Amino acid sequence: MTVLAAADVSKAYGDTVALDGVSLSVDAGEVFALVGPNGAGKTTLVRALTGTIDVDGDVSLFGGAPGDANRERIGLLPQEFDPPARLTPRELLAYYGGLYDDHRPIDPLLADLGVADAADTYYENLSGGQKRRTCVAAALINDPGLLVIDEPTTGIDPAGRRQLWGLLADLAAGGTTILLTTHYMAEAEHLADRVGLLADGELVAVDEPGSLIATHGGENILLLDGVTDDVSGLLDRATTQVDGRLTVRNVEPAEIGRIVEALDEHGVEYDALTWREPDLEDVYLALAGDEEGAVAAADGPIDAPLDSVAGSGEP
Ligand code: ADP
Repeated sequence: MTVLAAADVSKAYGDTVALDGVSLSVDAGEVFALVGPNGAGKTTLVRALTGTIDVDGDVSLFGGAPGDANRERIGLLPQEFDPPARLTPRELLAYYGGLYDDHRPIDPLLADLGVADAADTYYENLSGGQKRRTCVAAALINDPGLLVIDEPTTGIDPAGRRQLWGLLADLAAGGTTILLTTHYMAEAEHLADRVGLLADGELVAVDEPGSLIATHGGENILLLDGVTDDVSGLLDRATTQVDGRLTVRNVEPAEIGRIVEALDEHGVEYDALTWREPDLEDVYLALAGDEEGAVAAADGPIDAPLDSVAGSGEP
């Protein structure tokens, strides 16, 4: 069953085209991650799909117009959601629970989210991770079949991020449909059944993370740093050498030893050796990296455009 669908959806704000003919659908039980540079249109698409803005094209939510969808079935967590500072998680959940006909029991939900110990602490005194987890609990208070969550782990430390990933994975395993946006490619790769990459208002690729990586991620590479000798022609494969870094392309793990031996035989020295497979970040850079430059160049400064690959450096 299709839970969310967009068909040829476009949205312009004045001269700014936020969405340009986007079509996608998300099935029941699926975890779908929207990724893309700042300004790519992710939030606009989420708003379109959940009926908070009007757009050109067709949008459906649970098979009907988004405005007609039963809100008891939907949990929505915008990035800027900012609950009152002087309420505790327990009070917040009681408040949000009161907005629905039925709601989940509060204490077990707080325990699931790992905020049971802070249930009676003012929101303003919670850590960043506890705050975000409390917000996620608020979005889950009505036991929704669909969770729409904008940047679930932005501002959370790596341990808190892992914890939230575990929680979202458990929800997905229990059949909850999840639409999330993220700047962290590792997050999309870890959580999503399918990833949609938005760039400049267009959906430039949609697929399972593994398929995207296989199609767009490029080759396995071997990196050797601190190489001072000219290695060109020594190895029987494509290499590039820039600022002491030798990049050997298309290297399978079993070939690393032979390459190292060949370099040793020629007396080539190096400081460090790294082998890596392409990941979703390589896909992102291949498909959206240039687009981002184009957006920045065409529109002047946009919100921290270079921040859009913040996933690098994550564990
Ligand atoms: P993302 O979530 O991927 O960062 P957005 O959907 O927020 O992207 O924005 C897409 C484009 O639409 C950007 O150029 C943004 O500046 C513009 N935009 C979004 N919302 C508005 C608005 N309410 N008024 C004017 N422009 C907007």
